[in-house]
Parts: sequence; C-alpha cells; structure tokens
Amino acid sequence: MKIFEELESEVRSYARNFPRLFKRAQGEFVYDEDENEYIDFLAGAGALNYGHNHPIMRTKLIEYIESGGITHSLDFHTDAKKEFLETFSEKILQPREMDYTVMFTGPTGTNAVEAALKMARKLKGRSHIVSFTNGWHGQTLGSLSMTANSHHRNGAGIALTGAHRMPYDGYLGDQVNTIEYLDKVLTDTSSGVDLPAACIVETIQGEGGVNYCSIEWLRDLSDVCQKHDVLLIIDDIQAGCGRSGRFFSFEEAGIKPDIITLSKSLSGYGLPFALTLFKPEHDRWSPGEHNGTFRGNCHAFVTAKAAIDTYWSDDTFAASVRKKGEYIAKRLDDIVEKYGDGNFTVKGRGMFQGINCVNGETAGKITRAAYKKGLIIETSGTDDQIIKLLCPLTIADEVLARGIDIIEESVKELCIDHEIPTESDYFDDVTVTKK
Ligand SMILES: *Cc1c(COP(=O)(O)O)cnc(C)c1O
Repeated sequence: MKIFEELESEVRSYARNFPRLFKRAQGEFVYDEDENEYIDFLAGAGALNYGHNHPIMRTKLIEYIESGGITHSLDFHTDAKKEFLETFSEKILQPREMDYTVMFTGPTGTNAVEAALKMARKLKGRSHIVSFTNGWHGQTLGSLSMTANSHHRNGAGIALTGAHRMPYDGYLGDQVNTIEYLDKVLTDTSSGVDLPAACIVETIQGEGGVNYCSIEWLRDLSDVCQKHDVLLIIDDIQAGCGRSGRFFSFEEAGIKPDIITLSKSLSGYGLPFALTLFKPEHDRWSPGEHNGTFRGNCHAFVTAKAAIDTYWSDDTFAASVRKKGEYIAKRLDDIVEKYGDGNFTVKGRGMFQGINCVNGETAGKITRAAYKKGLIIETSGTDDQIIKLLCPLTIADEVLARGIDIIEESVKELCIDHEIPTESDYFDDVTVTKK
C-alpha cells in the first residue's frame, strides 16, 4: 500500500475506509489480492446497478473492440451511437411517452449537470437556480454551487454564486409544506429571492443522506415551477437507471421534467457516460456551443445498449427491484426496532435505503464492523450518520439476505453487546470468508 501513500494525493477518500488491494469483481462480489470475498453494498456509489463485469455487457464490449469498433469519435455519428440512441428511444423514452432530446455531455455526472444549468440560464435569461438543502450535484463550480455540503463547498476557494437554497421535503419537519414556502417566495416580489431560471432536485438525495421527497411534493414542485415559468431539472444521476424501482425515479409522479440528467449506472458497466435530456422545444443550442472532447464514449454506448436490452425491454426487472426494495425495508425496520433503542430510523425508496444512526461515529463503527465481516458499505449525510445501502439491483436474494444479516450482526454487536471495533479493524486483521 506504500505507493498509494507515497504518490497518491490526500484527496483519496473511499480507499481509506476499504484499505485493501482489490483485484477482481463479479456481480455483487469483489475480491482482494488474497482472494478474500466481499459483498458489495456500495456498487460504485450507484454506478454499478447491474453489478461488476456483467457477462452480457462484457461479451458485447469485447466483440465490439475485437471487430475494430471505434473507441473515440468526438461526436461523430458511429454505429455504436446509432444503436444506443435507437434502443434508448424505443425501450426507455417511447414506452414512457417521453418526448425528449438527447444531449451527450462530458462523461461524468457533473458534466451533465453543468450542461443542464447552462441551458436553463440561457433559455430563461436568468442567473439564479433553486437547489435544495442537502442536495448533491457534483464538484465542478457550477454543480458545486448547487451542492449543499459545506465540506465540499469550502473546497471551491471562490464564492459559489447563482444558487438560491430552499428547504427540501421534510427539512422543517413533517408539519411544514416546503413547497408552499417556495411558491410564496416566488410569488412575493419582495421575498428577496429573484425569479430563478430553474429548480434542480434529486428525488432521493443519495450523498445528502438518503432523504427522499414524497410523490405529492414532487408533483407540487412541478406545478409551482410551471406556474412561475421556471424550468424543472431532475438530477437522476444516482436515483435513476432503476434504483428507485422504475427507470426514472420520478415516473410514479407522472411529471415531465424540462431537463433530466443521467450518468452513474447509465453505461451499465461502470464506464463513464452521462447525458442530459430535455424537451425538444428547449433545444436552442447552436452547434458546438457546449462542447467537449469526450462526449459520447463508444464503449459505453455498447454496454448501455446491452444493459437496456437485457433489463428494460419489459417491467420484469423493475418489478424485481421493487420487490427487493420491500424486502430491504422490512429487514431494516426490523433491525431498527430490535436494536435501535428508539433512536435509529429507516429511510429511502426502492433499493435506495439507509439507516439513520443519528451520529456519524455510530454509523462508522457499524460499517467498519460490517467491513470486517466481508461487507463493503458506506455512510452518507451531513455527519455521515446514514448507513447507505446501494447494492447492485441484480443481487441474488440469498446474497442480499446475507449482506443484511451482516448489517444486523454489526448493529447488534455495537448496540447490544457493545463490541466496539477498533481502528485496526480497518487495516491488518481483516478476517473475512476465504473463497
Ligand atoms: C454522483 C452524483 C453527481 C455527480 O456525478 P459525478 O460523476 O461524480 O460528477 C451529480 N448528481 C447526483 C445526484 C449524484 O449522485
């Protein structure tokens, strides 16, 4: 591990909590250099919804490479792009009666968000955008100004401008309807809040602590946006691609956002790939006005098409995600009730759920104990107080149960048996099942 400490920047993050040398991975399992097996409940922070190295996608990708398929094409027309667009249109957009234009942005989530913000400002000729408490939209300056977390905001080094922050659903308790507040400040010309170009929102706030808004709140947000001529941007980078139990996380609300961002699991294979979707009437870009070298990753087109063909040709897969989501909720409720001492709570939607352990220290001890037992799982939220379950959607029922068993044992150890894992559990004495 010396080379990492010697050469790699202090900015490294996840590696600190899982300090092993990982060598291979398959589906919901990751293996380190000693062939220790880990169940992956982090799944690339939601970039691996279909698990690691999916065999169908891998085969398609190898075939494409071996046939001399184009790897890099700027935004030239390629057969890989054509087939992706045809499949995305036929299997994702059309069945949902979604009339949207596809814009290929740079390959990461924050690139898709930057494009969304820029186009909203251009369309409305207004500088401000409403984003919400605990929101997370990426780390480049435009996206970062929409992001709430002060640890990350403080890294900017300059003033982060162009955002109005509004309370997310539930931020002020169950009794306060935060959409009424938004409506009020947008109506009142002396509220001090300039009319924004858009509102950007996550339906489930992943990094912000698995907070989710109700379907009704989302519908009301859409209505309030329309009422005030403000665009609605849904950032579906983490909650999309099936995580919520539908391809798009807002489907249940029946809304048609003006702009949608997708990335993370879009390629299906963990390859960088992002896009921004918008209603065709919003397409007022001039050629190359928002440009980039890596717009459209041909390898990602190939695997993304394979992912859609494999999982999104009908509702079977989505139904299985909803079913697993119910199981997860039930198990977590049970754990919280048994060991949570009235303090812990469960939150989330679909296969995007978490346990609120109230403080980061407790959550960290539990995830550390779980890691020692062979489970890779992370925390999120202001104080890292939420244990966040993000397992691959394709996880086998039996492995899902086993992973949650590990969480249960870890919670029990800490809360009932008071076995406090030590720092060294992170490092030398990892004893996990040998394969
Ligand atoms: C991860 C994430 C982003 C940023 O994506 P990157 O690929 O890390 O730039 C933006 N929005 C949401 C909701 C995310 O979860």
